[in-house]
Amino acid sequence: GNSSNKRNFSIIAHIDHGKSTLADRILEYTGTVSKREMKEQLLDKMDLEREKGITIKAQAVTLFYDAKDGKNYELNLIDTPGHVDFIYEVSRSLAACEGAILVVDATQGVEAQTLANVYLALENNLEIIPVINKIDLPNADVEKVKNEIEEVIGLDAQDAVLTSAKTGIGIVDLLEAIVNRIPVPKDSSNEPLRGLIFDSHFDDYRGVVTYIRVMDGVVKKGDKIKVMSTGKEFDILEVGIFSPNMHPTSKLEAGDVGYIISGIKNINDTRVGDTITLIKNPATEPLEGYRQVQPMVFAGLYPLSTDDYEDLRDAISKLQLNDASLLFEPETSSVLGFGFRVGFLGLLHMEIIIERLRREHNIDLISTAPSVIYRVTMDSGEVMEIDNPMNLPKLGIKYIEEPFVKGTIIVPKEFVGNVMELCQQKRGIYKSMEYLDEMRTMISYELPLAEIVIDFYDKLKSRTKGYASFEYEFIGYKESKLVKVDILVSENIVDAFSFIVHSENAYYRGRAMVEKLKEVIPRQQFEVPIQAAMGSRIIARETIRAMRKNVLAKCYGGDISRKRKLLEKQKEGKKRMKSIGNVEIPQEAFLSVLKLD
Ligand code: GDP
Ligand code: MG
Repeated sequence: GNSSNKRNFSIIAHIDHGKSTLADRILEYTGTVSKREMKEQLLDKMDLEREKGITIKAQAVTLFYDAKDGKNYELNLIDTPGHVDFIYEVSRSLAACEGAILVVDATQGVEAQTLANVYLALENNLEIIPVINKIDLPNADVEKVKNEIEEVIGLDAQDAVLTSAKTGIGIVDLLEAIVNRIPVPKDSSNEPLRGLIFDSHFDDYRGVVTYIRVMDGVVKKGDKIKVMSTGKEFDILEVGIFSPNMHPTSKLEAGDVGYIISGIKNINDTRVGDTITLIKNPATEPLEGYRQVQPMVFAGLYPLSTDDYEDLRDAISKLQLNDASLLFEPETSSVLGFGFRVGFLGLLHMEIIIERLRREHNIDLISTAPSVIYRVTMDSGEVMEIDNPMNLPKLGIKYIEEPFVKGTIIVPKEFVGNVMELCQQKRGIYKSMEYLDEMRTMISYELPLAEIVIDFYDKLKSRTKGYASFEYEFIGYKESKLVKVDILVSENIVDAFSFIVHSENAYYRGRAMVEKLKEVIPRQQFEVPIQAAMGSRIIARETIRAMRKNVLAKCYGGDISRKRKLLEKQKEGKKRMKSIGNVEIPQEAFLSVLKLD
């Protein structure tokens, strides 16, 4: 094998600093896609990704570049998801590279995600090329950003590449930097095969397409391989590269990035981070870093109509084919009926999945408020993991622990007071504060994940006029004084409304929830009491008064068409409503707990 003309790299950046646009320019300049084919942000394939302006799944593309030294280089660009929910995938994508391009917006400077991504790149021993982007903007301050990269990150920024992904300035400099500064992959084609799985997708016709970086050895069509963590064996039907569409090749060898197709039907058989090797002459040790991803956030999903239960199951299973981090199991609620408890990596992941179920699978569903996993130790010594407040035992609890994260917030210094106040409210434990420059501060807190899942990010943004950036990582479980609050509608406990909360906040949240429900539940023909309870003790109460007049009574039974119109209107209004007893409750109500002020 000859690896001296290969370079493998990722682009890392804080959201909106220009990663996708820069990738587009690189693809365009190298002729990987013609201008005509070029849709904006080619690497962000899913519609939702485009809409939300985020990259959800990692993508890979091979491009060819004629460098100034006269040689032709094969460059593999591996795009990484930018959001903390998908940090494990970022880490695996980076492990498939020798270098990373670190994009920093010349008008914004280093942000929380910039740092989080740099740490991951450093953990993977990558060569980092700092790139200062958006230099076309009048308020670009290249010198200041260079200083920040040096002071905050500790990287030499004197040779930072200056680009405008918008106008194309600096793209050639960047390509030259990739060729000259990113290390040549190790040439170990003669060693036993080790391929790192860094992504996969499910193709309706061909089954699972597995994305691999070959670290050692060679793999080709006809080879028999096994997945090292499970021992499962497969025949290779095709190998190839993405350029940018799937393009079969004769083989992939050490240093290459591409795909394999092997008749795998279930994406769970090829987990991201796993190693493949040949059955004949296998490697003895897998590559470092395989671990199972753990969902952090759980919610109940229920079809609006019970007829859709099987469809919902099929739809979630289909999404799971492309998303091994998605977990689900059947769940029943006394008020919502049959549904599923679904585990997500984070809130954004949850939002995306629900949106896809609605859009791509046409399933109307209700989701309950998300919950974290509580660890409950019983008097008997038994330890239970509770991902649903409904299941918290009533008696015999010795103590409860909840997941904590370390949160890093970067913010202009005039907002420090607001941020600290918010973190205290969210039961945060102050850790440290550092000045990045004369304008900005980096604050670090330990926070309960449950508080972040609720509305932390929105509040942080609104209290800092949108200037704060935020990142977090899971650090472990800590004991907390937690209690369950139940909500009763017309005297019946609505299990899907129950939530677990710190005892100091129970009264306040119970009251706020009851007030919120009074707002969002429409008036009925009769009076509806809404109560919050801790055990058998009622801690808050509101009443939704009965509707004064029956709208239909006005029609005297005379004007049929008018009556029909009214009925239709009411039916529309009932969309995404669920009857509990005889009370109609809109979807909004189920997420009320997320929006208590
Ligand atoms: P990503 O979130 O890092 O992938 O960022 P995007 O590539 O989606 O870019 C975010 C926004 O910045 C988009 O509106 C881009 O058009 C814009 N943008 C990206 N690069 C530049 C640049 O060099 N100059 C200017 N003026 N705008 C840019
Ligand atoms: Mg992007």
